[in-house]
Amino acid sequence: MVKAYRYRLHPDEEQLALLRRAAGSVRYVYNQGLEYRIKAYKRRGESMNYHDTRKLLNKLKKAKPWLRETYSQSLQMALRNLDSAFTNFFHNPNQFGYPNFKKKGGRNTVQYPQNCRADFQKQMLYIPKIGRVQCIFHKRFNGKIKTVTVSLEPSGDVYASVLVDDGKKHEDIPAERNVESEADVLGIDMGVKTLATCSDGTSYENGKYLSKAEKRLKREQRNLSRKKKGSSNRNKQRKKVAKINQRISNQRKDAIEKATAEIAGKSHAAVAVENLNVKGMVRNHHMAKSVSDAAMSYFLTRLETKCRNKGKTFVKIDRWYPSSQACSACGFINKEIKDLKIREWECPVCHTRHGRDGNASLNIAREGYRLIARLPMDGGEVTSVEKTALQQGNQVPAVTGFAEAGRVLRREAPCL
Ligand SMILES: [Zn+2]
Repeated sequence: MVKAYRYRLHPDEEQLALLRRAAGSVRYVYNQGLEYRIKAYKRRGESMNYHDTRKLLNKLKKAKPWLRETYSQSLQMALRNLDSAFTNFFHNPNQFGYPNFKKKGGRNTVQYPQNCRADFQKQMLYIPKIGRVQCIFHKRFNGKIKTVTVSLEPSGDVYASVLVDDGKKHEDIPAERNVESEADVLGIDMGVKTLATCSDGTSYENGKYLSKAEKRLKREQRNLSRKKKGSSNRNKQRKKVAKINQRISNQRKDAIEKATAEIAGKSHAAVAVENLNVKGMVRNHHMAKSVSDAAMSYFLTRLETKCRNKGKTFVKIDRWYPSSQACSACGFINKEIKDLKIREWECPVCHTRHGRDGNASLNIAREGYRLIARLPMDGGEVTSVEKTALQQGNQVPAVTGFAEAGRVLRREAPCL
């Protein structure tokens, strides 16, 4: 199985200059390849593939000898990535869009598909044509390095994402366990303030220092907007802001890795979450939409991977479901709870006291179990599809996997 590790690199000045030039060469080759493919299509109606563009690379190397300074496999990877960008676009144009030219500035990456070596003792990562770079191996790995992606961040930080094949087959993943009752399902309510609230009563916070860093970021961003354009002070300030952004993103990732590992380590046979397009309605006004979306989708993918690796059933509730408004004890739907400020409430029917997130997580666990066990919804909550099926005396349409469950049971989301 292939696993990814991310480490901080500390290249010396010369190595950093080499990496920057390598990133520039990779970008150049990618853009040339893209232009070549566009022209070939426009002029001759030809669709180029990876191998066609490889021939171009040889020509480029003759014309631009400085390309030889960069590891040739990194340049080939640029063309492979370009090819996947086209494949993605052809298969799923709505999601991926037509490949873009890469611009200077921003985040730059160079991939090394072979010949990188790690020395944990000396804390060094050997990178072809760059040399032995100091690397903080905070975590060791066992197995063979597949690809190393070096990223040069706008903050000036340098990271290596190392893909490692541990040689184990997927069969090592334990078999999925039976889900026999609601108690086997752990429901998770994702949030912005509290990262996750679980139906077993536990909850996971974002990093301890996150809100402090966010306040500082705001202050420094204000400072940046006051600096004169093109001045060296503005440049300095821009770097400062990028550094804080980097720290916040690292803290958020750390918190997510920790929480998802602990949740996947619990004894439940299944884990249920609400899908993002449903969850996305709730926002923290302190945080930009794109940031909270990115953090939540990272949380979901990490949780799903870790749960599946442990043989757990992972369920995404892919339709609108009143997880916050329904009383988890009696099912009464309390419309007043739409107000996000209400953190605690008492059910007017059964008088159970609820914390907002805890109650939601219990409902998510129940809905998750209902979907796994393929049970129809309770009473008044039957959808038109299910109603027709029940009236005709048929079984409720069987659901296999979650994408399908969403299609069968989807209902328009009301405006909150
Ligand atoms: Zn109640």
